[in-house]
Amino acid sequence: MSGRLVQIGGISPVVPERPVPESGDMHDGFGRRIEYLRISVTDKCNLRCVYCMPEEGLPWLRREEILSYEEIAHLVGVMAGMGLSRIRITGGEPLVRRDLPSLVRMIRRVPGIDDVALSTNAVLLPELASELRDAGVDRLNVSLDSLRADRVDAISRRPGSADAVFRGLEAAERAGFTPIKVNCVVMRGRNDDEVADFARITRERPWHVRFIEVMPTGENLGVSRDEFVSSDEILAAVGAIGELRPVAGPPGNGPARYFAFDGAPGTVGVITPMSHNYCGTCNRMRLTADGQLRPCLFGDLQTDLRGPLRRGEAIEPLIRQTLRIKPERHWLVQGSDAGSGGLAALSQVGG
Ligand code: SAM
Ligand code: SF4
Repeated sequence: MSGRLVQIGGISPVVPERPVPESGDMHDGFGRRIEYLRISVTDKCNLRCVYCMPEEGLPWLRREEILSYEEIAHLVGVMAGMGLSRIRITGGEPLVRRDLPSLVRMIRRVPGIDDVALSTNAVLLPELASELRDAGVDRLNVSLDSLRADRVDAISRRPGSADAVFRGLEAAERAGFTPIKVNCVVMRGRNDDEVADFARITRERPWHVRFIEVMPTGENLGVSRDEFVSSDEILAAVGAIGELRPVAGPPGNGPARYFAFDGAPGTVGVITPMSHNYCGTCNRMRLTADGQLRPCLFGDLQTDLRGPLRRGEAIEPLIRQTLRIKPERHWLVQGSDAGSGGLAALSQVGG
């Protein structure tokens, strides 16, 4: 991970801190209740999406740097005692990590955790969907940036992946993961002409299609500068095929705003980190694969939990410390890595 990231161990005089409750449920210094943790289980991936990872990959974490499943479950246990109730497992691509269902079972046994979701590119779902369901995954988000096989292959830069992705979506539905949330990062000239096609599916099937605005990271500055499409433009393209009304959307407490066509079984959502940021209602923190607790997806702040955990030190004070430094909002600028805090790719912190 980038050398620019600030490792917070104890009190750092350079980081603005705000007071937070010293016991009980997790609240940050802006009064936001934190009850959701996104856990990245690996920084590796079997795809190379153009907006995420460079084609040649990134300097991968070493095996000993990565938290074991026991260590992750222990940290979840500590945070569950502080009001954590919901988990999302992500990556990199979480399904490339061996025996992921056993982590799901361990997390499910933690008292207080009542919702376990997973984000995946679906490539390995044909083999794993049923086992993940049996292990206790409640919901799946699947990344799908095009409905056309050649474009899925081109955007993921892994020829042949489209076939596995489409079979993975079917396997997920067969395993009982309905409704499925589909995440689509919209890029000008690559898939923006498919927005209406995605939306049409929500009239036929209980899919919740969420269009995501591309966010700038160190590795995607060209895409984020030249191919950004705003949610207003996306909703205009969807609105051209039928009238949309705002709806509550599926369970999951994410930041998406949802809409639906009359009588449709599915919904259309937009996730708008750039054009309309939703930091004011942020309810989450992130745990990276190497045990860094990040109060914000972006920015250069994180607290090392792995070292203290392996030395047998108390973890709760470090979590309170991270709450004290949780920033009010992100400061992303399209086409610039000024606000991303030295982050090369979302795959490094779990997206
Ligand atoms: N590999 C899994 C997947 O693709 O769903 C999980 C990790 S991925 C980093 C999580 C989500 O972040 C995906 O929906 C992906 O499309 C999205 N994502 C990655 N980089 C992004 C970027 N720069 N801007 C917006 N969304 C991004
Ligand atoms: Fe892999 Fe997900 Fe990043 Fe695509 S978005 S390269 S599938 S981690």
